[in-house]
Amino acid sequence: MAIGCHGSVWSGCFDDAGLRTAIEGTAQAGFDLIELPVFDPDTINVALTRQLLEDNGLGVTISLGLTDEMNISSEDPTVVAFGEARLGKIIHLLGELGGSHLVGVIYAPMKKNLRPATEAEVKNGQDAIRRLGELAATLGVRLGLEAVNRYENNILNTARQAMAYTDVVASDNVMVHLDTYHMNIEESDMFQPVLAVNDRLTYVHIGESHRGYLGTGTVDFDNFFKALGAINYNGPIVFESFSSAVVDPNLTGALSIWRNLWKDGADLAKHANAYIRGKRRAVETISYH
Ligand code: MN
Repeated sequence: MAIGCHGSVWSGCFDDAGLRTAIEGTAQAGFDLIELPVFDPDTINVALTRQLLEDNGLGVTISLGLTDEMNISSEDPTVVAFGEARLGKIIHLLGELGGSHLVGVIYAPMKKNLRPATEAEVKNGQDAIRRLGELAATLGVRLGLEAVNRYENNILNTARQAMAYTDVVASDNVMVHLDTYHMNIEESDMFQPVLAVNDRLTYVHIGESHRGYLGTGTVDFDNFFKALGAINYNGPIVFESFSSAVVDPNLTGALSIWRNLWKDGADLAKHANAYIRGKRRAVETISYH
């Protein structure tokens, strides 16, 4: 079980300097893993990333939310092909980096929609995700489809929707990614959805209701961590937080990051690492089985 930190706690861009700041900062804050947001794999210095990960003893995962141009759920086959090719390159990058998971809103655009998705859009996305899952399997990579709130996607808003969607994809390494920030908006509680996903849960984001310091918002972390204990979850648990103090041009608008919730990413991250490990340690003392 690895506890990780999202790269946007440290830097808004992942050029050589940004990679160094994010990877060294994540390690120094006590984490085991860094999640790098990657939209275009050609912008990432692979050799430097590998070296920094090795020097700092960190594992790596990659996340993104699709843009319209990468929309594999599009009804336009040329757009689907472009998005699928781009995601394929990101999966190959993960293989080169020795990474385990590609996660996030990788099945459709991450944006506010003004209409529901069509049946054709959902099917096109499922078919593309199935093909990408087959590619990922050859490189030892798992795909985690993140259920996000209604303002960021119109296909997967809840854990149960993610289960139904991945039932149709029916690929062993296409699994579910839950995020406490989104669950706090869309789910009825923080326990039952985790039980519903059970061993199809492959990735977890820990985010507060305002995406700032853990424990200062309304998310019921106690019941969420109890639920992870109840299903014996041992996959990555990654802290995700955003502030206008760190601006990522690909994420700031899509995620509506308008407020400055923190200035010192190092202090925020150190606090989150201790908070998550503390909850995990406490839950280990209660037995469900
Ligand atoms: Mn998330």
